[in-house]
Amino acid sequence: MTQSSFAKPKVLIITTGGTIASVNGKPMIDGPALVGALPELGNLADIQVEEFSKIGSSKMTPALWLQLSQRVNQLLATDEDLNSVVITHGTDTLEETAYFLHLTIRSPKPVIVVGAMRSANEISADGPANLINAVRVGLAPEAVGSGVMVVLNERISAAREVWKTHNRGVDTFQSSSSFLGVVDPDKIRFYRQTLYAHTANTPFRIEKLDQLPKVELVMDFTDFDPGIIDYFASKGLDGLVVGSFAGGRISAGMTEGLKRAAGKGLPICIASQVPEGRIIGYPEYDFPVLFAPDLSPKKARILLMLSLLLTDDPEQWQAYFEQF
Ligand code: ASP
Repeated sequence: MTQSSFAKPKVLIITTGGTIASVNGKPMIDGPALVGALPELGNLADIQVEEFSKIGSSKMTPALWLQLSQRVNQLLATDEDLNSVVITHGTDTLEETAYFLHLTIRSPKPVIVVGAMRSANEISADGPANLINAVRVGLAPEAVGSGVMVVLNERISAAREVWKTHNRGVDTFQSSSSFLGVVDPDKIRFYRQTLYAHTANTPFRIEKLDQLPKVELVMDFTDFDPGIIDYFASKGLDGLVVGSFAGGRISAGMTEGLKRAAGKGLPICIASQVPEGRIIGYPEYDFPVLFAPDLSPKKARILLMLSLLLTDDPEQWQAYFEQF
């Protein structure tokens, strides 16, 4: 059935919890109540709501990422009238969920992830405006084919590049390159498109999975104890990501630990703890290592998890780190 030209666009809001659904810091507002509190949304679209979870996002897990992505894919594949999907989410792990979806959603239709820094009962709560803005961005023609986007504080960020940078401020989400666009009161303005491959243009298929490879993340620091890596290497991991210093440099202790772990065949990826700029001219280590040139360590972990599903060829893993 085709939509009548008078029909409003149909938007699905999937709620997962987080501060945007919180009272006094506790995620207790259910999906219909969160959306029902904003009748203005009805002027923009025919809004449907689905509650996926009601958790603080520190409780998000790879198994939940899989379920969420599978659900969004199923809905976008079966409901041709659906214009876009907006996902409300806690900000603590929002950038991880957004990047996972960015790599695994199979549709060009807009998927927007949105949160808030202030609970619904706080003065100047930012959730209502963020949610309205997220729906508006999902309705913008430029949002189609732009991958998963994050909308907070009137900014549109690419899932691949967004970092939470402030513990409390509403301008917490910054981009490691630049914002995709802005949400002005009168207009959604896109300044650029995301050019790295995403959504339907990735090879990652997760439809039948209920778990992902086990990949852990270790941050480097001065005087790092190599025994930390020995411990991780003894845990039966499928891969390890190291949050390195700028430029992919690592401490002597990290070097010693990684050399032993790599000798046991553990796939290791180095990603910089520093948000901006790429790792260029990869440093040479005398053990095999992958580099994520410009992904945060947390996002490199997600890409390594997905890459491990597809191949055991380290050259192909490295190619994925250049491509996605
Ligand atoms: N409580 C939070 C979370 O679920 C923080 C937030 O949403 O801002 O991540």
